[in-house]
Amino acid sequence: MTAPLTARASALQSSPTLAFNAKVNQLKTEGREVINLSLGELDFSTPENIKQAAIQAIKDGKTRYTPASGILPLREALVESWSLNNQLETSVEQIIVGVGAKQLLYEALMVLVEAGDEVIVPVPTWSTYIEQIKLAGAEPHLVKLPADFKVTADQLEKAINQRTKVIMLNSPSNPTGQVIEPRELEEIGQLALKHDLFIISDEIYEDFVYQSEAVSIASLDQKFADRTVTIDGVSKAYAMTGWRIGYATGPREIIVKMGSLQSQLTSNACSIAQWAALEAVTNGAASVKKFRQALSQRRQLLKKALPEIPGLSVQTPEGAFYFFISLEETLNQTGQSSVEWSQQLLGQTGVAVTPGEAFLAPGYFRLSYAAGEKELKTALTKLKIFQGKI
Ligand code: PLP
Repeated sequence: MTAPLTARASALQSSPTLAFNAKVNQLKTEGREVINLSLGELDFSTPENIKQAAIQAIKDGKTRYTPASGILPLREALVESWSLNNQLETSVEQIIVGVGAKQLLYEALMVLVEAGDEVIVPVPTWSTYIEQIKLAGAEPHLVKLPADFKVTADQLEKAINQRTKVIMLNSPSNPTGQVIEPRELEEIGQLALKHDLFIISDEIYEDFVYQSEAVSIASLDQKFADRTVTIDGVSKAYAMTGWRIGYATGPREIIVKMGSLQSQLTSNACSIAQWAALEAVTNGAASVKKFRQALSQRRQLLKKALPEIPGLSVQTPEGAFYFFISLEETLNQTGQSSVEWSQQLLGQTGVAVTPGEAFLAPGYFRLSYAAGEKELKTALTKLKIFQGKI
């Protein structure tokens, strides 16, 4: 008997990187040495003070249900840091803590869009947005970015039509690492006002910008803040991917409704992880600075070494911890897809990267530098030899 799956379930794609990770794990089980540059998480451990805060929370019995939208001290700390960084008046009702940024993105979409609506998504993109938009019943409207991956208001405006409801922004971007210029953010905000649109701004990589400062679109104008849900979390900045704590801020009615949805979906995020996140947000700045410095050095290493490898076309990203590299020249020569090329690279050298198909951008691959310098150097040597043979 075939299971009576809904159209929604049938259309759902699981994370495209999963199959690839399965292959990586298989090779490791076979005893092969694998250098995994496909990961979207820092290689550092969660800082000790944050771990201790979690242990203390367990000892203090902070192990029961919390308010569905998060413990008050954490939401208050987030109000303070948000107000401080962005000069915006925010209240605790405008902050929600959830099970990772992923859950909050989904809740924001479920609250803002439905069947018949379109969400503008610049491409290359993190594929989760696409699946979540579809789950919410709406349609993604893809805007293919030029080769420099710079998002501009002009490109987005061309995609706006009667059905457009939301613009999805992700700066710094996964996978491209590009940062949207403040003057473009200003113009995108004006677009939202002109066309009565909302913005979901995923700023999860905001702490990893190397030559400038990350700017929140909501901070530029109260009118923009009134139509923006900003998504963030502790996963990337504090090396806390497994703890599953994200947060969102935005207009009160939207955040309260996201809270109602969350109260029916999961209730609160893990109580212990919330106390750990409080320590991260209040006493984690030094660790973030240390991580940023290490990432910045690795970025420099790659910036210098990658252009020396034949067949790759590389531009240096401004933020996050990824290089998104064009393979056009190589693929023209071999006739492969970037998935096939990545599989061959993995099979022959043990270096794992993520093919661009996972980000709706065939012809590219994403290289994560959330790996030690020694590993990166070995991977670069192997990649150079591999490309030299093509
Ligand atoms: N947003 C982007 C752009 C990401 O790349 C990721 C993780 O890879 C997330 C959100 C998910 O963050 P979280 O671990 O808080 O769910």
